[in-house]
Amino acid sequence: MTSLTGRCMCGAVTWAYSGEVTRNLVCHCADCQRATSSPITAFLGLRRDEVNWTGDINHYESTPNTFRGFCPSCGTRLYFRSDRWPSEIHVHAATLADPGQYRPDAQVLIRSKAKWLDQLPLIPAHDGFQQEPSPRPPAERP
Ligand SMILES: [Zn+2]
Ligand SMILES: [Zn+2]
Repeated sequence: MTSLTGRCMCGAVTWAYSGEVTRNLVCHCADCQRATSSPITAFLGLRRDEVNWTGDINHYESTPNTFRGFCPSCGTRLYFRSDRWPSEIHVHAATLADPGQYRPDAQVLIRSKAKWLDQLPLIPAHDGFQQEPSPRPPAERP
């Protein structure tokens, strides 16, 4: 039995859950990439009837009988649910009140994985938000 809470960016939508976590998976599929504007998406599988939501939620039907919920105020993606898994809802793990609680145990649709993800350990990393852009040779400047 796990107790979890979460919210969207603006706080207009919250969720709370006590029960079994059915999945901890990272999805690499092209639909999730497009829907979240992000190369990977981490989901928590929860029992659909046992998640308590507050606030208004809009849905986009990304394929027939597959719905992606989002906050109408701030646009935060909240969940994926599909008739393929009628008793489950896949909540975006990044909405957890404490995202540090999340531990994925599977990756799916790996064939769509962004090629550059494997390069991340080789790319310079910075504590701050942004480095100065690398200076370009004068010949390349307009
Ligand atoms: Zn919101
Ligand atoms: Zn996906």
